[in-house]
Amino acid sequence: MSGSILIVEDEPVLLRGLRDTFVNQGWDVATASDGEKGLELALTKPADVILLDIMLPRVNGYEICRAVRERGVQSAILMLTAKGQEEDVILGLNLGADDYLTKPFSPRELVARMKAIFRRTEPQERHSSFSLGDVMLDKESHDVTVGGKPVELTAKEFDLLAFFMANTGLVVSRDVLLDRVWGQEYPGGTRTVDVHVAQLRRKLGRPDLIRTLRGTGYKAMPQ
Ligand code: CA
Repeated sequence: MSGSILIVEDEPVLLRGLRDTFVNQGWDVATASDGEKGLELALTKPADVILLDIMLPRVNGYEICRAVRERGVQSAILMLTAKGQEEDVILGLNLGADDYLTKPFSPRELVARMKAIFRRTEPQERHSSFSLGDVMLDKESHDVTVGGKPVELTAKEFDLLAFFMANTGLVVSRDVLLDRVWGQEYPGGTRTVDVHVAQLRRKLGRPDLIRTLRGTGYKAMPQ
């Protein structure tokens, strides 16, 4: 699996450790130890994933996140947050980060997370069917089955489930769901997302498949 990563982290030991871990995976790694350089690299040499510390010299992680999204850069953004800083997570996700990782984290967990992101950023056509536990979804035939039995979903419920399945194990905020599943039309705002998720849970009969994360959004749980 190939991929490119930009690490923006001002703690030298952590930065070196992260770089070595990724280089060992054969991934293409760029690094920045302050926010200014990080922002410049993020905009001029877009990576598949930006691993972004929050507290950084010159330009902080939130500002980088906002600028990257404002310029329409498609990189996935994984924020590195300190333990117990839930408000940081919420702010970051609202500014367009895709997920977060709480320090300290294990290299194994990080590598697994990266692989999940690389899989997701691969061209969609390579993935025409998904499975999660006993739920199967086929994008070509538009079939959904639970335990082998067909389930009828509306077009939006189908798109929503497909998005969750493609992003299994990742936190997705309501804003991201609105943006990726509904596009420009936001009927009823984020409440729409909650209603559709509730419908989806009911129809699938698998309430634990998509977990609600208080204040941040949803996560499709790996089975
Ligand atoms: Ca820092």
